[in-house]
Amino acid sequence: MAESHYTPAPSADFVLPFELPDAGLRGRFLRLETSSTRALAAHPLPEAGQRILAEALALSALLGSALKMEGRLSVQIKGDGPLNLLVTDYFAGGGLRGYARVREDDFAEAGRPADFATLAGAGALAITIEPKKGAQPYQGLVPLSPGGIAACAENYFAQSEQLATVLKVAAAPIYRSGSGHGWRAGAMMVQAVPGLFAEDIRSTDRWQKVLLFMQTLSDIELLDTEIAAESVLWRLFHEEAVRLRSSLPLHFQCSCRKERISSVLKSYPAAELRDLPDADGVIRTRCEFCGSVYEFPLSSLQ
Ligand SMILES: [Zn+2]
Repeated sequence: MAESHYTPAPSADFVLPFELPDAGLRGRFLRLETSSTRALAAHPLPEAGQRILAEALALSALLGSALKMEGRLSVQIKGDGPLNLLVTDYFAGGGLRGYARVREDDFAEAGRPADFATLAGAGALAITIEPKKGAQPYQGLVPLSPGGIAACAENYFAQSEQLATVLKVAAAPIYRSGSGHGWRAGAMMVQAVPGLFAEDIRSTDRWQKVLLFMQTLSDIELLDTEIAAESVLWRLFHEEAVRLRSSLPLHFQCSCRKERISSVLKSYPAAELRDLPDADGVIRTRCEFCGSVYEFPLSSLQ
């Protein structure tokens, strides 16, 4: 099933592309641990909010790593629920970061809900692709689906690309003695290769079978770092020839830069700038994605 020089995927923080050539399908399997733990560490969120953020990180890596371009793919949720904003970024080369905001008052008032539908409310999920050079950014929007992140993504592909797509995403907290709390996320997507067959694969028995197989894919298989990705694919698709590609490592990455913040601050009118410093005369800004705090003595900006 593997290429001759195949190196097995690591236990976590990777995306593994694969193909089912006879069925005209391709897919990706991914698992996050260190990258998702780091990305979530900067955000004081209730567990239900962390879960959605971890799942969105997985989705952005799943989609972003499929693009052959330099640049960024963002997944954004804007809803009228307590989780009113969420952004995750995938940077070409395997970098990931995310940010989410849960309004504490609304969250308490709603009875501290754990389900996606109540937390996110009504709104939209946006997928934005920003190529690094030249090309125009692209944005696709779908209404939020009460079914969660995976259901939103399936709707996105059905509407915007009209590609048969099935997707499963899971996230769970991990507790390890000594190393503290963290978050794992896992995801798998199987999708028709565009333009391969004249018929719509969705009307075939083969596709129905793939849907059935995907229903048997458990959260444990997506998340448990003791279970090799290859074993999961082999169990699911043992009736098919599975062709594995090399896995791509994923890591936490933030694009904030002190110089950029400094030049933004320097563009402020002097009167506004004077209102910003703490009592010690230092302006402190915090990056919402990575939690880094940057300090600028007021005197350095004038
Ligand atoms: Zn940052």
